[in-house]
Amino acid sequence: MKADPTNPETNPYEMACRQLERSAELIGLDSELVDYLKVPDRVLTVKVPVRMDDGRIRVFVGYRSQHCGVRGPYKGGIRYHPNVTMEEVIALSMWMTWKCALVDIPFGGGKGGVRVNPKELSNSELERLTRRFTTAIMPIISENRDIPAPDIYTDSQTMAWMMDTYSVYKGYTVPGIVTGKPVELGGSLGRESATGRGVAIITRESAKAIGSTIKDASIAIQGYGNVGYWAAKTLSEMGARIVAVSDSRGGVINWDGLDVDALARYKRETGSVVDFPGSEPISNENLLKLKVDVLIPAAIGGVIHGDNMKKIRARMIVEAANGPITPEAEEHLNRKCELVVPDILANSGGVIVSYFEWVQDLERYFWDLDRVNRELERVLVKAFRDMIVTRQEFGRILWRDAAMVIALRRVIESLRLRGLWP
Ligand code: NAD
Repeated sequence: MKADPTNPETNPYEMACRQLERSAELIGLDSELVDYLKVPDRVLTVKVPVRMDDGRIRVFVGYRSQHCGVRGPYKGGIRYHPNVTMEEVIALSMWMTWKCALVDIPFGGGKGGVRVNPKELSNSELERLTRRFTTAIMPIISENRDIPAPDIYTDSQTMAWMMDTYSVYKGYTVPGIVTGKPVELGGSLGRESATGRGVAIITRESAKAIGSTIKDASIAIQGYGNVGYWAAKTLSEMGARIVAVSDSRGGVINWDGLDVDALARYKRETGSVVDFPGSEPISNENLLKLKVDVLIPAAIGGVIHGDNMKKIRARMIVEAANGPITPEAEEHLNRKCELVVPDILANSGGVIVSYFEWVQDLERYFWDLDRVNRELERVLVKAFRDMIVTRQEFGRILWRDAAMVIALRRVIESLRLRGLWP
């Protein structure tokens, strides 16, 4: 789906406002509160000059948006991408507010980004960019105020540089300033697998909710990166059959089930899942149309849209990627599928374990993997049940709207209790 800033179907800020308005209407929220929530608390635009390896200076622009801090410090990723805009960052920070409230962790929504193509920069240029950007947003971040994390084209190394830069300025180590760090620097065990594991837990709960079981359920996953792989691995450990997966080069299918670890090894060696021994080829588009129990889009946004929505035959869809279904297709699939789990719930495992990482950093006391996974399970199962109960309250609304209503009610209640000052 191409982002057209004038089209409310594809402009992320317009989309975020529409979703807010829809759920606000369901609960009869005052329009002044809706207006309040459409505007972020604060957005900082910064200049990020970087000395390149050849001695020239290039100037990049970066943003940090803090949407709503009424429930706690702002939390959200930092992305490096040539298409980053202020509007996009604001929309993403708004979605983070809802995601954190929905899973009931004490954070508000934040998001940041630098308008840069990181593939054009060397590692040392990326390090200088990261350190300068961290310095530039330092006036509005702290471990109690705003805690960044990795996002598109940023990773645990980026977080290590951010943590180091912030700590050097403070004069002491501040691990809780970012999450998604390497474990050696105060990162959490289980953070890497958290989003995919969360997707698997939600898929298992979804199967239960429609009176079915995950055991031997047929599952197709688009995208075999971090999220797709960990979802596939956890689901196959739960007894599900991963029948098809794909990456940007194409897909593979075997109705008896694919060996997810052998497939991951094969992808590491060859760069793709394509031509995996013992499988048949399938295109990305045809994978989406398979008659499976569960379809998990775990690659990019906008892959299910007006042109292909009528061909989707999965019983359930679990949105692992951010925004894989366009609003038009979501309306259609809401009527057709037994369950469509929205991204703000399905992929919230990452931010939940980010929260655990922050808690561990503040306490300087680290959990074992079992505890991380147990607590993740507890938080997600509760959020899933909340969504099902809330949807029953309203009838056949979008599952996304049910999730949004829960989040909105929590944010509004915090706002009401805190009051408006002065
Ligand atoms: P990743 O880069 O590790 O993997 C992405 C996968 O998608 C790769 O296998 C890639 O080949 C494939 N892909 C890319 N373009 C494709 C296309 N056109 N068709 C089919 N496959 C394609 O990324 P990830 O971390 O696994 O994230 C996947 C999605 O989940 C993204 O939408 C991301 O925003 C979302 N997400 C990730 C996290 C997280 O913790 N990693 C958290 C929340 C949401």
